[in-house]
Amino acid sequence: MIIILNPGATEAQLGELTADLEARGYGIHLSKGVERTIVGVIGTPERDKEDLIAQFESLSYVERVIPILKPYKLVDRAFKPEGTVLNVRGVEIGGRRLCVMAGPCTVESPEMLFETARFVKEQGAHILRGGAFKPSTSPYSFHGMGEAGLKLLAEAREMTGMPIITEVMDTRDVELVCRYTDILQVGTRNMTNFSLLREIGDTRVPVMLKRGWASKIEEWLQAAEYIASRGNYQIILCERGIRTFETYTRNTFDLNAIPAIKELSHLPVIADPAHGTGKWSLVNAVARGAVAAGADGVMIEVHPSPEKALKDGSQSLKFEVFAQMMRELAPIAGAVGRSL
Ligand code: PEP
Ligand code: MN
Repeated sequence: MIIILNPGATEAQLGELTADLEARGYGIHLSKGVERTIVGVIGTPERDKEDLIAQFESLSYVERVIPILKPYKLVDRAFKPEGTVLNVRGVEIGGRRLCVMAGPCTVESPEMLFETARFVKEQGAHILRGGAFKPSTSPYSFHGMGEAGLKLLAEAREMTGMPIITEVMDTRDVELVCRYTDILQVGTRNMTNFSLLREIGDTRVPVMLKRGWASKIEEWLQAAEYIASRGNYQIILCERGIRTFETYTRNTFDLNAIPAIKELSHLPVIADPAHGTGKWSLVNAVARGAVAAGADGVMIEVHPSPEKALKDGSQSLKFEVFAQMMRELAPIAGAVGRSL
């Protein structure tokens, strides 16, 4: 359940309440908004709920107590009505300004990474992406440069000032990847890797959780809840397409998910039209659609020569196409009250 305090509730009253909850053995998660503090209470037995609600509602500084019936609580919009804004080295995600994450699918060499990083930065991207540990459906394809790739990403950050995001696939690598990255990425194939989610939940490093390719929105939010329940609230969601009967595109980008997430959760949501379509020629249009639908930003794969890319060349944008996307995105952002 969640306990919403009156706007005038004092720190001392909050302290009294949390001490009481702790003494009863419940887990506590605080959400301090501009107007109100909301206390998320985890572990209350179902049978006692009605009594507990009556008890806490009788406190003078409590406005309301709401039982949460959904299978997720901390990522529910009710817990934080105003929406979460992350700040990663000065870059906001979830604020008025859209966040553009761009870079190669995979870090292949210093030259291609640095060239791409400089270019996307010049065009106004905010965060540099690049995979060092690559998931792959085939055991025989390239699996990334590993730590050497992380080092290159860190160098590119030094060079451009852009924070970096990169995928972590294995619980054994979480500590290593955290040493380099600003944002951890959980890929579609790992959305239900609960050990990994827990491990990441124990860090305080921001994380972008991609939607599982066969996962419902509710399951995706439950995966986010795994991370939040361990105390890491710095979560970004990423819609990257789901599998449907359609084969013309690699996946079907679920535009519905963008406003649905905004309705259900306070977490920011980023659109990934590259994996959502698998075709570079469709990426810009889907990016524009996602921004119009309320996405907090986009993640775009960019490569100096997509035809030579070791991975995802078919969906990677050439430099000039990325530049065009940035130009075309700006008026759409303006039309929905955002900026680039
Ligand atoms: C990626 O971002 O390159 C990636 C592997 O994404 P996904 O997990 O969505 O397939
Ligand atoms: Mn990719």
